[in-house]
Amino acid sequence: MALRCIVSVLRFGTPRVAPLSTAPVAREQPVAREQSAAGREATSGCRAAEGARPPLPVVDFGNTQEAYRSRRSWELARSLLVLRLCASPALLAHHEQLLHLTRRLLGQSLFDKLMKMTFYGQFVAGEDQESIRPLIQHNRAFGVGSILDYGVEEDLSPQEAEHKEMESCTSAVEREGSGTSKREKQYQAHRAFGDRRDGVISARTYFYANEAKCDSHMETFLRCIEASGRASDDGFSAIKLTALGRPQFLLQFSDVLTKWRRFFHQMAAEQGKAGLAAMDMKLEVAVLQESVAKMGIASRTEIESWFTAETLGVSGTLDLLDWSSLIDSRTELSKHLVVPNMQTGQLEPLLSQFTEEEERQMTRMLQRMDILAKKATEVGVRLMVDAEQTYFQPAISRLTLEMQRKFNIEKPLIFNTYQCYLKDAYDNITLDVELARREGWCFGAKLVRGAYMAQERARAAEIGYEDPINPTYEATHAMYHRCLSYVLEELKHNAKAKVMVASHNEDTVRFTLRRMEELGLHPADRQVYFGQLLGMCDQISFPLGQPIPIPVLVHKEDVSGDLEDSDT
Ligand SMILES: Cc1cc2nc3c(=O)[nH]c(=O)nc-3n(C[C@H](O)[C@H](O)[C@H](O)COP(=O)(O)OP(=O)(O)OC[C@H]3O[C@@H](n4cnc5c(N)ncnc54)[C@H](O)[C@@H]3O)c2cc1C
Repeated sequence: MALRCIVSVLRFGTPRVAPLSTAPVAREQPVAREQSAAGREATSGCRAAEGARPPLPVVDFGNTQEAYRSRRSWELARSLLVLRLCASPALLAHHEQLLHLTRRLLGQSLFDKLMKMTFYGQFVAGEDQESIRPLIQHNRAFGVGSILDYGVEEDLSPQEAEHKEMESCTSAVEREGSGTSKREKQYQAHRAFGDRRDGVISARTYFYANEAKCDSHMETFLRCIEASGRASDDGFSAIKLTALGRPQFLLQFSDVLTKWRRFFHQMAAEQGKAGLAAMDMKLEVAVLQESVAKMGIASRTEIESWFTAETLGVSGTLDLLDWSSLIDSRTELSKHLVVPNMQTGQLEPLLSQFTEEEERQMTRMLQRMDILAKKATEVGVRLMVDAEQTYFQPAISRLTLEMQRKFNIEKPLIFNTYQCYLKDAYDNITLDVELARREGWCFGAKLVRGAYMAQERARAAEIGYEDPINPTYEATHAMYHRCLSYVLEELKHNAKAKVMVASHNEDTVRFTLRRMEELGLHPADRQVYFGQLLGMCDQISFPLGQPIPIPVLVHKEDVSGDLEDSDT
């Protein structure tokens, strides 16, 4: 039997009391960026007419009778049993052995039935489009929508997973060479962490087999997008980029992006700007040119041609967004670039060599993303790109951003995911919001805390790089609220920006509702969505959905099996 889990995604808001006319946050807009600033102006001011807004009741998470109104008695009994069992550390520690033993005692068929009645029934929507339909309709009647997400895990042993990972995360050059890689340790494959499923409970893991398998994942995502389009006119679908191509490319690209960003920070430190938020670091171009020339990275004439008034404006300063645009695929510059290796002090090429086959694989991955985004546009479904491990994430986030540039012209079709357990979450999200403003496309984000904490920490400690995760839970909590507040402010000024608050944390949900109220963000504007995994916290999902007099949106289903079997 295939494993699947479900996600509920709700859209909601509270009564608006604060006027929309509150003064906008002052933001610097250099002359050269007038066009994008104008683009941003054009996107604002198209919210639903205030007169048409229904009055909103207060959400009461304490009213359990209301919260569980949608659930039948036997479903409540099942929830009680399953959630109690899931909360038992002893059971969790030995769940694999216990499942194995139960399967042996009952036989496959009885075991499957038992699982369907309990765990799968609680967290999984169903096996195909037909079987999930009643649940979607039932939840929708209570104001909870769906996101379709495919949740079948491949049946791989840890050894098989490790083998696949090592094969697919190493380039031909690395395999043929002395075994040393130019990539930083963090962005190299490590056998001990090859099985990326370790310690991850709520996210599906993909391992690269071949290009045909990636095509088949794409087909499955396409069917999910189509099914979402049919199930709702306000639907979401989720995809993972590790399903769509060889992860070696994601590692290499992440390495490049990180080195380039670190180089900027090093230059900023030389100019006495260390410790500032990324968006506040503005480097003096003349000083920067001097430093780069001294390092022998490029000739002075070359360096001067990087920083022109056309690319930078006339401010005489350069920020991280300007800096990042220098290695944009559109400027051919990156091919000639070298950066200093902090460990050896040597200059090294920024981009490693790809073989022709690797180039083809990379292109096919980008083509698959493009096909999915086009399908999503065609059927009016928003596409959320999941965030994954930190050694893939810079590339995943950057590729998603490229899709946003292309497809988020009229509305935010593509949603990027920001993991707030990361120390650099605030820098990541503020930079992307600022880029969307400058370039005039619609910002769309899903905010999560992050699903890979234990694995990330163990890997950093074992391999020897800085732990990318916030030091404490409280720091992650504060980071989430800081990022969320920033994005909600953006939503207030930009009617086309949207956010999904993907969390089971009641405090965070309350915080969002309060900030929405303060900022005057109304659910009728459909800018804020809430997302939870199906069956994980009905006591939050349903009170959010129930009292709202407008259809409260989607609920995400993870389905598996034959989505093409039926047409809803
Ligand atoms: C709709 C939806 C979509 C999701 N998509 C993604 C995705 O694309 N990528 C992804 O990575 N995750 C994703 N998640 C999972 C999410 O990141 C969290 O793991 C999960 O939701 C638990 O966080 P919480 O806010 O719900 O609950 P909480 O219980 O408030 O938070 C638990 C989280 O806090 C963080 N944390 C816990 N202890 C510490 C500590 N000591 N120090 C620092 N941080 C700590 C961890 O991130 C942990 O998962 C998604 C979740 C939902 C509901």
